[in-house]
Amino acid sequence: MRPSSSDLIATEARLGAHNYQPLDVVLARGEGVYVFDVDGVRYLDCLSAYSAVNQGHCHPKILKAMVDQAQRLTLTSRAFRNDQLALFYEELAALTGSHKILPMNSGAEAVETAIKAVRKWGYEVKGVPEGMAEIIVCSNNFHGRTIGIVGFSTDPTARGGFGPFAPGFRIVPFGDAQALAAAINPNTVGFLVEPIQGEAGVIIPPSGYFARVRELCTGNDVVLILDEIQTGLGRTGKLLAEQHEAIEADVTLIGKALSGGFYPVSAVLSNSAVLGVLKPGQHGSTFGGNPLACAVARAAVKVLVEEGMIENAAEQGAYLQAGLADIRSNVVREVRGRGLMLAVELTPEAGGAHRFCDMLRERGLLAKDTHRDTIRIAPPLVITRDQADWALEQFAAVLTTAT
Ligand SMILES: *Cc1c(COP(=O)(O)O)cnc(C)c1O
Repeated sequence: MRPSSSDLIATEARLGAHNYQPLDVVLARGEGVYVFDVDGVRYLDCLSAYSAVNQGHCHPKILKAMVDQAQRLTLTSRAFRNDQLALFYEELAALTGSHKILPMNSGAEAVETAIKAVRKWGYEVKGVPEGMAEIIVCSNNFHGRTIGIVGFSTDPTARGGFGPFAPGFRIVPFGDAQALAAAINPNTVGFLVEPIQGEAGVIIPPSGYFARVRELCTGNDVVLILDEIQTGLGRTGKLLAEQHEAIEADVTLIGKALSGGFYPVSAVLSNSAVLGVLKPGQHGSTFGGNPLACAVARAAVKVLVEEGMIENAAEQGAYLQAGLADIRSNVVREVRGRGLMLAVELTPEAGGAHRFCDMLRERGLLAKDTHRDTIRIAPPLVITRDQADWALEQFAAVLTTAT
């Protein structure tokens, strides 16, 4: 007999490490913006696996690319070449205007790779004394979960108990160009920042911030590293969120939707000499750049562009944001976002976002609470106007019943 959702939840609790606290919905199938639980109940997915399934669940063209490639060749290691890697480079470079690409698997690995390459660039090109390189990051950042990365997190839950950590990082407030200017010194090699802080609760910096950041980095020979792992690939209504700021990073990190949710694929994109410092043997990954990953990523990027998902994210995102802002509710403090990266922040009196997410789930909509008072809303970029209207009805119902 097929195990029930409560059996599966109990087994997870018994055998799994408890490093997550998921909603108690056990999903068995996905299609486009929808996911279905083990009993066949349908939900509109407003999380998109933290923006890894921008293209919608189980996109048929990505699925086909994956199955076709899996039947031919899956892994060679980079000790040999494969016939997908060059095409992946070529298509991604053409789309993003990057000069060099380094493929990895998870987002955290792309971040680690950028840190390694930028430090090495600092010693070999900028002339920073050995062992002295500094990278500036922002408070409330989220760049992943490795020891290196949580060492420069300011979130006590993410870093507490995991030290000692690597030196060489300085933390400045997000959105404060003055503080960045003050923190830069001759040993500063890079500034690592998210265009919009996602995990911090969809925090958009003041306008003009990134223009000033770009100037400061250029003026001080500091590599600007934009972590677009969540904001990139259409989520904010542009291919990359940097386009909203009319700037170009020196190093851009992408992941998550690079595979449309089929497979972990990430990449470091570089517009400068940074990736050029890596020589054979100095960095690598057994799975990075494997033919299955490359074939899946090629299809994932292709459908994103060809099917107009980026434009749709801009259009439906603006529509949803306006619709959310129109909901008359005294528990809503602010609605913010860009494209389909949206958040509703509730008042402290609302009693936390978690119970609103529970009510939404009962109505067939899955959204995630974050930082107690914020509901984040990030459906797949294939959402239609009708689906957006339906979602708005559900938000209106829960945000007004509670008042
Ligand atoms: C998710 C995320 C990461 C980490 O990606 P993983 O694939 O989970 O390692 C890094 N940076 C940002 C901005 C993210 O949203």
